[in-house]
Amino acid sequence: MFFQIIETSSAGNCAYAECEGIRFLIDAGVGIKKIRGYLSKRGLDILDIDAVFVTHEHIDHYRALKNFKGSNAKIFANRLTAESIQYLDSATKCLDWRIFSTGEAFDFMGIKVSSFPIPHDTSDAVGYRFDLGGKTLVWVTDIGKLTLSVRDIASHAQILVLESNYCPRMLDNSNRPYSLKMRIKGSHGHLSNSDAISLIEGLDSTLVDKVYLAHISRECNSVSHINELLSGIASSIRTKIEIVPPLQESSPFDF
Ligand SMILES: [Zn+2]
Ligand SMILES: [Zn+2]
Repeated sequence: MFFQIIETSSAGNCAYAECEGIRFLIDAGVGIKKIRGYLSKRGLDILDIDAVFVTHEHIDHYRALKNFKGSNAKIFANRLTAESIQYLDSATKCLDWRIFSTGEAFDFMGIKVSSFPIPHDTSDAVGYRFDLGGKTLVWVTDIGKLTLSVRDIASHAQILVLESNYCPRMLDNSNRPYSLKMRIKGSHGHLSNSDAISLIEGLDSTLVDKVYLAHISRECNSVSHINELLSGIASSIRTKIEIVPPLQESSPFDF
């Protein structure tokens, strides 16, 4: 199994995973050039992608989706998310959409896929759990607050991608409009650093191989600030944590 985040921040989100010859993306919210460039480094092309799993209809999660027209990729989303993206970008209407119900588990070419609801200000945003190659990969970004069910799902992950979007002080001091600050901090906005760390503190470090901290705000957060927070609790956390800076690839998870 191979997993790598191509990019993650409020500007764009896309990750690549591969297991036993099956290749898929989680979200396609970066420019198509970036996706093509990444795939070509791996000797691949967009035609080699079997599926894209879409979390919700914000542009930083579906920007490049229309470019999968005529490809082999099946585009997985729940109905409200698919309809919203097709409304926002009519060029996506002709894609090979595969609709699931939020909360149901299904098989995709031998990979068990489960979606789960997350509180975010879109029609029906989801996170994903993938059981592949003997590992469990859980993707949770764009989440306004941590629900008990999300904490439970995350606790089963060997590879966890978790939003750590903003520092409340940096957000308050930013030039962003008051309404946007309230939206980000709200129960259907984004996850603060301290909330993300509270989840990590509750993980069983013997079960988790790696946590990627993702969807980091470029203006209202910084890698050094998250590192400071993590160093304050380092003695109680033995989990391997990687902070993925905005616009950069993560390191790969490969075994
Ligand atoms: Zn987002
Ligand atoms: Zn979003």
